[in-house]
Amino acid sequence: MTEETPSPERISQWRGNIPIHHRYTVGVAGQRFFAALRDEKVILASTCSGCGARFLLPKIYCERCFVDTKEWSPVKGPGYVKTFTLVHRNLDEEVLTEPVAAAVIGWEGVRGGIVHRIGGMDTSQLRIGQKVEPQWREVRTGGIADILYFKPVDRPFHRGGA
Ligand SMILES: [Zn+2]
Repeated sequence: MTEETPSPERISQWRGNIPIHHRYTVGVAGQRFFAALRDEKVILASTCSGCGARFLLPKIYCERCFVDTKEWSPVKGPGYVKTFTLVHRNLDEEVLTEPVAAAVIGWEGVRGGIVHRIGGMDTSQLRIGQKVEPQWREVRTGGIADILYFKPVDRPFHRGGA
């Protein structure tokens, strides 16, 4: 039988850091996805041949139908901001000179999305639904940072107005 946990402040404790290093393989789907970012500058989604669901990040099988996703194709058109937050401090809790916008980017008809930065605009004007497209890095290595950030495509909102 477990006892009720008292409030955390009442438990004797010491603070410290534990260095943990790990590797997490990107898997079959991840390898193909990141290679396409690097080599073709496209964002791949996979489609279930059973129910037609499109997945981003792509999956090699559909978790509902248990069938392989044989059709892989790039997402079409601009993505859109599904949700976002403005980050005002860095990982060391220092105040940033200007906030960084972190968003979930989705595409119509695609399940899931990509978490990435928004750039190329005054992020104080960022709204859910903003259409965006990737700003590709010149030299790509096969990682999510091959996209520098997502930039607006319909209303630029450049700093300084208009
Ligand atoms: Zn399915």
